[in-house]
Amino acid sequence: MRIHLKSLGCRLNEAELESWSRDFRGLGHQITGDISQADLVVVNTCAVTAEAVRKSRKMMHRTHRINPQAKLVVSGCFASLEPQETARALGADLVVNNREKDRLVEIATRELNLHAMPELATTPEVSTLLSGGRQRAFVKVQDGCRYQCTFCIVTLARGEERSRPIPEIIEEINLLHGRGIQEVVLTGVHIGGYGSDSGSSLEQLVAMVLRETDIPRLRLGAVEPWDLSDAFWRLFEDPRFMPHLHLPLQSGADTVLRRMARRCKRREFQALIDQARRVIPDFNITTDIIVGFPGESEREWLQTLELVERIGFGHLHIFAYSVRPGTRAATLPDPVPRQIIRIRSQTLHSLGNRLKRQTLKQFVGRSFPVLIEQCQEQSDGGMAWSGYTPNFLRVMIQGGPGDRLENQIREIRLECMNDSGDQLLGVDIHS
Ligand code: SF4
Repeated sequence: MRIHLKSLGCRLNEAELESWSRDFRGLGHQITGDISQADLVVVNTCAVTAEAVRKSRKMMHRTHRINPQAKLVVSGCFASLEPQETARALGADLVVNNREKDRLVEIATRELNLHAMPELATTPEVSTLLSGGRQRAFVKVQDGCRYQCTFCIVTLARGEERSRPIPEIIEEINLLHGRGIQEVVLTGVHIGGYGSDSGSSLEQLVAMVLRETDIPRLRLGAVEPWDLSDAFWRLFEDPRFMPHLHLPLQSGADTVLRRMARRCKRREFQALIDQARRVIPDFNITTDIIVGFPGESEREWLQTLELVERIGFGHLHIFAYSVRPGTRAATLPDPVPRQIIRIRSQTLHSLGNRLKRQTLKQFVGRSFPVLIEQCQEQSDGGMAWSGYTPNFLRVMIQGGPGDRLENQIREIRLECMNDSGDQLLGVDIHS
């Protein structure tokens, strides 16, 4: 069969899509990027915001419009929260709940009677393993979360914490490395909770991956800013463990963090960053901030701006608060007017851009090994290759498609920032 796979939302959804892709190929099916040619379409939905839900519905309508013959299998957070609507109103032939999604290919094969021909299975090229020109493979290590942040729908959609066994994760990383992948990103819902259900820990997992695999670059997806021990920070002494962390702060006001039921307050977050910067050279921190959480006063907002400025994040993911039915925050009083949320978001975007320029400026003149990912046409019509430094700074180098630099780790001297101040321009020292 020809199968089209589509993921919305987080890296975890993408990691699941990549493992389904490998599983379907292993049964002799072909993966097609063209939805109109597919016999089966699989959609991994998202429900983190109202906008994500709208896009999930739109994706299912679009499938029916473009390819009404295709079978439609839907999984992910929206489908897990709204299975009836997904099946009836949106016409899914099969809905696979988040708790069973690791077995999606097996369930679809049985329930939809898919004809498997493993003898036709092929070993895919690196470039076809990953979507969107990326050369970093996302590897799922755990699912679910035991916490109940009041704004979070994910913990409701994905359930209790479940950790994949370490040998299974190492086997997947060795398989990916064997197929040419040079960087993997360990991802989950709450990876800091890895091993809570199996007597292990994130520290143990990372240490085992560094010991039992030869993957050149190991990176972590978002990590909640708590439950990170001293042993965790010592892991960064291994140069294969990338010195960048995405630590969601969400708000810089303790009173808001309390209403969010977050386990990390201003002082603890600052202490974590100070510790990281003490032990890890060139450490880059990025974060998530929710703007306009119910009741967010002007004073609380100014506390957020002050803490963001003081920490000096390398990048901000900014989310306008979105009411998620079923969460505790959805019943909180004093909603912040949309106009105020828009103004605060603009202010934070400007601050984020300034802090990003300050971060990039520190690295001009230095050289780093950059994993080159893809070649793109520039606004001036020229072609350039892009990739990331170990501490996740985006770098562009001149060169054309003929150079075939994708998936190579090149030593790049960082010459300057680009005009928009959101990435660095460099030269390949060995070219
Ligand atoms: S820790 Fe993260 S995943 Fe868990 S409830 Fe809070 S925001 Fe959601």
